[in-house]
Amino acid sequence: MGIIENMRLDGKAIYVTGAASGIGKCAAMAFAEAGADVAIVDINLEGAQKVADEIAEKTGSKTIAIECDVTKQDQVEAMVAKVVDTYGKLDACYNNAGIAVNAPAEEMTLAQWQKVIDINLTGVFLCATAAGRVMLKQGYGSIINTASMSGHIVNVPQPQCGYNASKAGVSLLTKSLAVEWAKKGVRVNCISPGYIGTDLIMSRDDLKPLIGQWNAMAPMGRLGKPEELQSILVYLAGDTSTFTTGSDIIVDGAFTCF
Ligand code: NAD
Repeated sequence: MGIIENMRLDGKAIYVTGAASGIGKCAAMAFAEAGADVAIVDINLEGAQKVADEIAEKTGSKTIAIECDVTKQDQVEAMVAKVVDTYGKLDACYNNAGIAVNAPAEEMTLAQWQKVIDINLTGVFLCATAAGRVMLKQGYGSIINTASMSGHIVNVPQPQCGYNASKAGVSLLTKSLAVEWAKKGVRVNCISPGYIGTDLIMSRDDLKPLIGQWNAMAPMGRLGKPEELQSILVYLAGDTSTFTTGSDIIVDGAFTCF
């Protein structure tokens, strides 16, 4: 088989968190189009079911929708168990659920700080370790996490120290797990997207006025689209990336280059 055929994900079982919208939904569609059976995981079950139905109809993927709050360990363990019960294995997962909280540091409440750290960082820890336990037993698996360019630079003008800290944490958590599990067949990588035009940004009235400023700062003069992350995610989930582990792949249209 050639390189393109080897990139396909036929017969693989993959879950995606935060898959009811945005980057997660787009990633789930890409995995399914590449041949995988995909579990659509989100705190919003209605949204997840809609996405699962849409992807199944479009691709023939044996999708399931699972309600899970990634900050709750019992729910995460049950979600991974359901994926394994349904498909008999877990080839890859994309731990992507996340939120953005913007507030000046001196005004940020402990509750705001904890919420963004809980969902963005602890949620990835809980999902990656639950998936890792299954994959270590199998002797194979690919874990992908969503970090952000905001874990590499301090965004301006919006103040978001908690978000930045959470995403820098995801990057180093990813590398730590990759090193611990490198000899055991389990690879762990993350992607660090630049600004992507999803609900996270487009549905927030406080962020809309900033889009023009970000576009002016961006070398390409625009936000990215979730579809522009699909190929790297399919690559990381599949069998042509066997020497890629511990990588934090920045996909930001050169935003962080200067
Ligand atoms: P989005 O708001 O469109 O989607 C996030 C999804 O996560 C939603 O479906 C939401 O219901 C779900 N979710 C929220 N809290 C959850 C929880 N506790 N448990 C389970 N699911 C939960 O956002 P998006 O832009 O698609 O962002 C996806 C990821 O990408 C996030 O981690 C975000 O930080 C990251 N990211 C986004 C951008 C961007 O510009 N959009 C850039 C870099 C990184």
